[in-house]
Amino acid sequence: MTPNASWIRPEPWGIHVVPSDCWIDPSREVPHALVTHGHADHARGGHGTTTATPETLAIMELRYQTREGAQPVAYGETIRLPGNVDATYLPAGHILGSAQILLEHAGERVIVTGDYKRRPDPTCPPFAVTPCDIFVTEATFGLPVFCHPPIEQEIGKLLKRLADEPERCVLVGAYALGKAQRVIAELRRAGHTAPIYLHGALERMCRLYEEHGIDLGVLRPATGATKEALRGHIVVSPPGALNDRWSRRLPDPITAMASGWMRVRQRARQRNVELPLIISDHADWGELTRTIEEVNPAESWITHGREEALLRWCQLHQRKARALALVGYEDEDD
Ligand SMILES: [Zn+2]
Ligand SMILES: [Zn+2]
Repeated sequence: MTPNASWIRPEPWGIHVVPSDCWIDPSREVPHALVTHGHADHARGGHGTTTATPETLAIMELRYQTREGAQPVAYGETIRLPGNVDATYLPAGHILGSAQILLEHAGERVIVTGDYKRRPDPTCPPFAVTPCDIFVTEATFGLPVFCHPPIEQEIGKLLKRLADEPERCVLVGAYALGKAQRVIAELRRAGHTAPIYLHGALERMCRLYEEHGIDLGVLRPATGATKEALRGHIVVSPPGALNDRWSRRLPDPITAMASGWMRVRQRARQRNVELPLIISDHADWGELTRTIEEVNPAESWITHGREEALLRWCQLHQRKARALALVGYEDEDD
C-alpha cells in the first residue's frame, strides 16, 4: 500500500516533520532540529534544540561550540516528539555517533538515513536494517561504476609502500571527522603499532574519538617532529594540507589520499596524489541497491548525490521511488 506520509515533507533546506515542527539535518537555523551525524552538511549550530546521539552532540560542541538545547538520544532509544511522533535513532555505520532516524506516526514508519555505509568500521556500530514504509536514502556514490574495494586491500597498499621506501614517509590526506580516525583504527587492526603522526587540525577530533572508547594507538603531533624522526612513518593530515607549505617539513612524503573519489583518476591527479586509497564512508552502488532490497520499503526517497541512476534502478526493479531536491548537502566527508 502506498503510504500517505503527508506528515513528513521534504523542503529544499531539510525534511520537515510537520506535527512536531522538527527538521531533520536542516541547512538553516530552526527551533527544533533532529541531526543524523556531525558532518558539516548535516549538523549546523544555532538551532533552538538539537536532538542527536551523545557522540554527535559532543562532535557538534567541539566543532560549532553548540551546547545549548542539546538533547541526547542513545541508539535504540525511542523518544516522543510533540504531535504524537515517535523518533528512534538507529546506527548508520557512517562515522562515530551517526544515526538513521526512524519516525513513527499514524501507523506509518519513515526512516531518514543521513549518510551510511554497510562495510564494517571499527569506529562505529554497523548499519541496522530496519523495515519501514518510506526510506530516505543518500546517493553520494549512486552510479554502478562506484564499487569500493575491501578496506584491507587499501590499507595493505599503504603499508607495503611504507615498507618499500623507509627513507620517506607516507602522508595520508583524510577528512578530519570520521575518515582520519577510521584509517588509523584500520591501520591498528592490520597490526601497525608504530606511532602515527598527526597534523594539528586532527588532534582534538582524534582525542574525542578516544574519549568515546575508540583505541587509536600511539598518536604524536607531526609539528615539531624532525625529518629524521618521521622517516618510515605515517603522517595523517586534512586533504587541504597535502600540497601546502605545511607538508614541506616532511621527509620526501609519498602523498596518499583516502576517499571514495579516488576511484576517479582525474580527482587523484588534481590533488597530485601519488598513492590513491579508495576508502569511503558512504555506501557504494552495490551497498545502496542491496540496502533498498533488504529494507524493502513501499517507497524510496533519494537524495544527497547522484539521484538519477538510483531512481532508474528502482523503476527497473518495480520499486516506487522519487528524487528529493534538498540543497546544501555537499560532502566534506566522502
Ligand atoms: Zn556524512
Ligand atoms: Zn553528507
